[in-house]
Amino acid sequence: MEKLKVLFASSEVVPFAKTGGLADVAGSLPIALEKQGVDARVIMPRYASVKERGNEAKIGKNVKVYFVKNDEYFKRSELYGDKFGDYKDNLDRFVFFSRQILERCKAEDFHPDIIHCNDWQTALVPTYLNTLYKYDTFFSSTRTLFTIHNMAYQGLFAREEYPKIGLDWALFNMNYFEFYDKVNLMKGGIVYSDAIGTVSPTYAKEILTPEFGCGLEGVLKNRENSLYGIINGVDYDLWDPATDDKLYKKYSQKTFEDKYVNKAQLQKDLGLKVDSDIPVIGIVSRLADQKGLDLLADIIDSILNMKVQFVLLGTGDNKYHVLFEKIAKKYPRNSSIHIKFDAILAQRIYAASDLFLIPSRYEPCGLGQMISFKYGAIPVVRQTGGLKDTVKEYDLQTGKGNGFTFVEPRSRDFLAAIKKALLMYNEKEAWAKLVRNVMGLDFSWENSAKEYVKLYKKILK
Ligand code: ADP
Repeated sequence: MEKLKVLFASSEVVPFAKTGGLADVAGSLPIALEKQGVDARVIMPRYASVKERGNEAKIGKNVKVYFVKNDEYFKRSELYGDKFGDYKDNLDRFVFFSRQILERCKAEDFHPDIIHCNDWQTALVPTYLNTLYKYDTFFSSTRTLFTIHNMAYQGLFAREEYPKIGLDWALFNMNYFEFYDKVNLMKGGIVYSDAIGTVSPTYAKEILTPEFGCGLEGVLKNRENSLYGIINGVDYDLWDPATDDKLYKKYSQKTFEDKYVNKAQLQKDLGLKVDSDIPVIGIVSRLADQKGLDLLADIIDSILNMKVQFVLLGTGDNKYHVLFEKIAKKYPRNSSIHIKFDAILAQRIYAASDLFLIPSRYEPCGLGQMISFKYGAIPVVRQTGGLKDTVKEYDLQTGKGNGFTFVEPRSRDFLAAIKKALLMYNEKEAWAKLVRNVMGLDFSWENSAKEYVKLYKKILK
C-alpha cells in the first residue's frame, strides 16, 4: 500500500519557533506519524528565529519541514505581536501563509492525502480547497483535518479586512465567516474542514457548551459527528530527566532519589533554604487568565505562610507580573519568582518540584502535568479538559491515582487540594512510591499518533 501522505500545517513548530503548546505538538506528532509509516511533512512560516539555511529543514529521522518565506511578513522578533499588541497585518500574514501552504504542495509536487491544519492561522486552508481550489485537480483527493488547540484564539478581524481573504462577500454571513460583524477564521475552518479535532476527549465535549465554546458552540454542535478529541503526547526525547542535560543531575525511575540532588541544587541557586523536607511547589506557565492564576492569587498568602517553597516561572499579562513581583518582595525567604521565558530553568523547576500547580479555568490538553509526571513532580490540577483526562485523584488507601484535583473553579477548593497533597508529602514512603509511579506513566506520542492515523483513514473513506 502507498504511504499515507500528511502535510502538517502550523504557525509554530519546535525547535524553530514557539509561543505555546501548538509548537510542541507540531514538532513531535509528525515525527511520531513517521514512525507509524506515514509520509509526514510540516510547513511553517520562516520567522527570524528560524536559523536554518535554505527553504527546508528536517526533524526526526526524515520529516521535511518547509519554510514559507516572506521577510516583510515573518522576519520579526515575535510571532503574532509585540508589546503594542497584535501585529496589525496578521490577516495579511496568515492569508499569505495559508495560500502558500497549497502553492508549496504544488511546487514540491507533493499531493497530500490529508492537510492537517491547526488553529486560526491555517484555518483558511479548508476554505480555499473548497472555493479557490475547488476545481484544481492537484488536490482532488486531498482532505482536511482542522485541529483546535484553544477555542479562545479564533483569529478575529474587522469586517473591513474581509477582502484580504480573497473570497466573495457572499461568504461573509452567519453560516461562514461572520461572527458578530467580525471576520472569524476559526469559524471558516470548522465549517469547511472534513473533520475537526481537538486535543483531548474532555475538551471535545466541553467546547460544545457555552462555557467553553467561546461563542462557536453552535457551529461546533452542527458538526458534532465530525468532531474528535485526541490527547496530545509528550516528546520524551525532549522531556526525560534520564537524558536531560540541563539538569544538575540526570535521574530515572530507578534512580529517582537523584531528583533530590536537583532539588537541593535549585534551592541553592535560587537562594532558598536547602532542605529536602520543605516541599517545593512549582509553576511554569503562561501568565494568562486561562491558567487560573486568579484562583492562585486568592490563596497565595495561605500557601506561602505554610512551610513550603514556591517557585514560579512565567510571562504574560502584566497584572500577573505585578502580582507575583509583589509576592517575591513579601516572601523573599520562600518564594522565587521569574518573569521570563526560560526553557532551561523550566526543566530544572520540573525536576526540583515536589508539587506542580495547574489550576486552569480551561485546558484543552495541557503539557505541564505530563511533563511533571515524567520528572516526578506531583500535579495539583483543576479537573477540566485534558487535565481531567490525565490526572486522577490519588488515594492513599489504594495507592491508585497520580495527582490531586479539584472540580469547581473555587480558590478554597484549590487550597484544599494543595493541603491534601502537602499532608501526603509527609507520608514519606507512600510519597516516594507515588513519585516513582508517576515517573513510569506513559504519555508518549506513539498512542496519539496511532489515533491520528485511524482518524486520517476514517476521513479518507
Ligand atoms: P499552553 O500551550 O496553553 O501555554 P501547555 O501546558 O500546553 O500550555 O504548554 C506549555 C508549555 O510551555 C510547556 O512545555 C511549559 O513548560 C512551557 N512554558 C510555559 N511558560 C514557560 C516559561 N515562562 N518558560 C519556559 N517554558 C514555559
